[in-house]
Amino acid sequence: MKKIITVIPGDGIGKEVVAGALHVLDVIAHKFKHTFDYKYALAGGAALDAQEVPLPEETLHLAKACDAVLLGAVGGPKWDSNPQHLKPERALLGLRKELGLYANIRPAKIYSALVDASSLKKEIVDGVDIIVVRELTGGLYFGKPSGFETRNGEEVGFNTMIYSVSEVKRIAESAFEIARKRKKKLCSVDKANVLETSQLWRKIVLEVAKQYPDVELTHMYVDNCAMQLIRDPKQFDVIVTENLFGDILSDEAAMLTGSIGMLASASLGGTVAMYEPVHGSAPDIAGQNKANPIATIASVAMMLKYSFDLSAESEAIEQAIEKVLSKGFRTGDIFTEGTTLLGTQEMAQKISEMI
Ligand code: NAD
Repeated sequence: MKKIITVIPGDGIGKEVVAGALHVLDVIAHKFKHTFDYKYALAGGAALDAQEVPLPEETLHLAKACDAVLLGAVGGPKWDSNPQHLKPERALLGLRKELGLYANIRPAKIYSALVDASSLKKEIVDGVDIIVVRELTGGLYFGKPSGFETRNGEEVGFNTMIYSVSEVKRIAESAFEIARKRKKKLCSVDKANVLETSQLWRKIVLEVAKQYPDVELTHMYVDNCAMQLIRDPKQFDVIVTENLFGDILSDEAAMLTGSIGMLASASLGGTVAMYEPVHGSAPDIAGQNKANPIATIASVAMMLKYSFDLSAESEAIEQAIEKVLSKGFRTGDIFTEGTTLLGTQEMAQKISEMI
C-alpha cells in the first residue's frame, strides 16, 4: 500500500513526538511492505514565524490532497499575546473546518502496566477501554447568534445551542460504525429531559439505529454519564455525544488513564482525517527529549486503522506499546520507583524494536 501523509510537527514538543511516531511508522512500513510518503507542512507558531499566518494556504492544500494528516501540537508563550486571528491555535480550528472534521474520536484505554497511574482504584479502572465520539463542528461552540449585549441595563453573554437533523445523523452513523467494529455497544449521551436539541438528537439517533440492528443502543443523561464514568467506567464501550458534553466527558474519560502523554485522538468526517495527541506543545519540557511520544504513536496506530484500514499494523503498534510498558520502560510523566526512565527518542526506539 502507498499512502501520502501530511506531517505537521507544529511547535514545542510537537516536533519531538512527531519524529518519534514517524520512526515507528517507518518500522511498520518496512515490516508490512507499505510506502508512506511524508509531506512536511507548517502550522501554528512555526508558520507564524516563517510566513506570518498560523495556517498557510500551502499547508491547507497539502492537507486536502493527502491520505491523512498527522499533527504534533501548536502554541507557546512566544505567541500568547498575539491578536486572536494570529494565535497558533487558529490553525487547528482552520484545519478542522476546512477538512470538514465533524467527528472527534478519543480513546481512553488503560494499559495494564499503568493501572496504578490512575487516580481511581485498580479494580475500577483495570480493563477500561472506552471511545468517546464527540461532535466537533456544531452545537453551542458554533451556534449563532452569540455574543455580548446590554439587556435591561445589564451586560449579558449568550450562545446558541443548535443541531440539524443532518448533523446528528452523520455523527450517529460514525459512532455506530465504530461500535460495530468493537463490542457492538453504543451509549448516546444527551440531556433530553431538558433540552430541545437533545430531544432531536435522541430522535435521530433512534432512527439511525434501525440501520444497525447488530449494535446495542442505550441512552444516558449527561449528568448521570459524568457520574457513571467514575463509578463504573467498564460499563461503557463507545459513547457518542454533542460538542460541549463531549468536550467535558472525553477529558473526564481520558483522565481515568493517568497521563495526558498517553492520549491519542482522531478527527474524522471529510475525505481526509487528522490524527493528533490530545496534549499541547508543553513549553516547560520542549527541546529536552523528555516528552512522552506514546500519545502520538498511538495516534498513528489510529491512522492505520481508521484511514488505511490496516488493522494488523495498528494492532502491532498497540501491542508494542503494551509490551514496552510491561517491561517497565517509562518517560518522566509516567515514571515510578523501580521503572526505567527513557527519553522521547529512546521510548520511540524501544517501541520500534518491539514491533
Ligand atoms: P500541555 O498539554 O502542553 O501541557 C500540560 C502539562 O502536561 C505540562 O506540564 C506538560 O509538560 C505536560 N505534558 C503534555 N504533554 C506531555 C507529554 N507528551 N509528555 C510528558 N508531559 C506532557 O498544555 P498547556 O501547558 O495548557 O499548553 C501549552 C501550549 O499548548 C499552549 O500554547 C496551548 O494553547 C497549546 N495547546 C495546543 C494543543 C494542540 O495543539 N492540540 C492542545 C492543548 C494546548
